[in-house]
Amino acid sequence: FLPHLVAALEEVEETYIMVKPDGVQRGLVGEIISRFEKKGFKLTGLKLFQCPKELAEEHYKDLKAKPFFPVLIEYITSGPVVCMAWEGVGVVASARKLIGSTNPLQAEPGTIRGDLAVQTGRNVVHGSDSPENGKREIALWFKEGEIVQWTSALVSWLRE
Ligand code: UDP
Ligand code: MG
Repeated sequence: FLPHLVAALEEVEETYIMVKPDGVQRGLVGEIISRFEKKGFKLTGLKLFQCPKELAEEHYKDLKAKPFFPVLIEYITSGPVVCMAWEGVGVVASARKLIGSTNPLQAEPGTIRGDLAVQTGRNVVHGSDSPENGKREIALWFKEGEIVQWTSALVSWLRE
């Protein structure tokens, strides 16, 4: 009964992380990947990609009514992005913490945005805000066959 409950609480999640065009242009791809890698999450998808306008609009569809929407779409499509899928227990909320607040000036030092960015419109990285959106966004950005299931050799050294 109890192990069952613990297993339910420790459900493996997936999240969509993306280095935005400014992060790619500024040479921050390795640094950003490294934060998630070192934390102990598992990479299951990775590609450099030029995002078409339609995909950017679908990804950010909840923000369609916001005044900054056209500028946001222009930003995300302005150069290549690095698309990633990461997997792990609690990965969605943990990745949001590693990324930091939307406004980099309010993001804590030690977070990606807190350490590496100064403006909301150039905040270098995206992370899904819920497990549901994690699934939705991975399905949106990756084709079948681009997500790889594998067993990390580190698993017993990361979790008891
Ligand atoms: N954004 C912006 N101006 C704003 C709010 C958001 O340009 O006032 C951009 C910014 O790039 C942000 C993205 O829109 O990362 C998505 O906004 P959201 O509120 O979902 O922030 P996030 O989840 O990325 O922290
Ligand atoms: Mg968001």
